[in-house]
Amino acid sequence: MINKMITVPDSRGHFGPYGGRFVPETLMPALIELEKAYNSYKRDGDFKRQLSELQKDFIGRPTPLYHAKNLSMNLGGPKIYLKREDLCHTGAHKINNALAQALLAKKMGKTRLIAETGAGQHGVATATGASLTGLECEIYMGAEDVRRQALNVFRMKLLGATVNEVSTGSRTLKDAINEALRDWTTNVKNTHYVMGTVFGPHPYPVMVRDFQSVIGREARKQILKAEKRLPDCLVACVGGGSNSIGLFHAFLKDNIKMIGVEAGGKGIKSGKHASRFAGGSLGVFQGCKSFLLQNRDGNVLGTHSVSAGLDYASVGPEHCYLRDMKKISYTYATDQEALKSFEMLSKTEGIIPALESAHAIAEAVKLSGTMKKNSIIIVNLSGRGDKDVQEVAAIKGIKLK
Ligand SMILES: *Cc1c(COP(=O)(O)O)cnc(C)c1O
Repeated sequence: MINKMITVPDSRGHFGPYGGRFVPETLMPALIELEKAYNSYKRDGDFKRQLSELQKDFIGRPTPLYHAKNLSMNLGGPKIYLKREDLCHTGAHKINNALAQALLAKKMGKTRLIAETGAGQHGVATATGASLTGLECEIYMGAEDVRRQALNVFRMKLLGATVNEVSTGSRTLKDAINEALRDWTTNVKNTHYVMGTVFGPHPYPVMVRDFQSVIGREARKQILKAEKRLPDCLVACVGGGSNSIGLFHAFLKDNIKMIGVEAGGKGIKSGKHASRFAGGSLGVFQGCKSFLLQNRDGNVLGTHSVSAGLDYASVGPEHCYLRDMKKISYTYATDQEALKSFEMLSKTEGIIPALESAHAIAEAVKLSGTMKKNSIIIVNLSGRGDKDVQEVAAIKGIKLK
């Protein structure tokens, strides 16, 4: 068995020392039920067919792999390709996962979806999946986020979801997760909890990864067709880690440089960032053992990023493992660098990226100076920037209306 593949996670969801299931006893039956259902439906012909039809006709897959010639030429470096997840229905990769989990919940006989959301992107994706599959939907959102993200709250309501404002604690994402978990504990029989990224207790990290791996499977085929060879480097931003692992996973057996880009915020020294690998340490948070921004007493630290989707204190456990294995390296881009790339891509290519994705573009800009002209980079453009234009205008001191 010389060539035996490393099998992760193990049967209890451990990626080496990371991952696992750190939840109250009352949630264990629900997680085990979900794990069993997922393991069975992922091999089910009907489920696979329905999911692949929805990916095509509802989400709009396969998304294009676009050679950004203007950007590449401007930077004077390698060929940069963009995997266009920004063209997915609802504007980002999140729908790949939310829709698949909605379909799975329907198959499991659940009648109700719940989810938490920070900026509202995952809430909108879940509400979309619920209305498509005819499931009830309740979204938990911190009162502070409800105020800041009024437009997404209205979107969720239009889609038929109930939005529950959470007024405890810091009135943000953390508190919304706690409330959603409380709901799940009470209503496990008819309710599925839709996790938005490769985080939380087993089987979520592996299941969400599998649902997002369609990104990399497509990109692999597309680059082989366009260039007759594999790329030299893959780049993606890392919040919880789902769009990045979604791109990287199909390339893990190849010898390709892969770079995950975290939110550097106002710089690591300032303490105002969300770079778990630059400033974090091993800890347990919201069901999972992983790298975590915490103080010496184990209290979770506040985070900051100009992009809400990267602004989280922990990161998916498989990323920690792949970093230990030296398969993926991690870096960060600051708010300033991301904002600069946001404008650069808009001007050179006519594509306004999500601020999250602009972090990945910022890394491609840095790499351009170090790589040969005939080398190839694929950047995952995880989402479109429509949701961010108001925020960017405000930062630039531009008054709209
Ligand atoms: C939520 C979000 C992210 C971050 O989440 P991951 O799980 O790390 O992918 C990145 N980009 C966009 C556009 C998002 O909406």
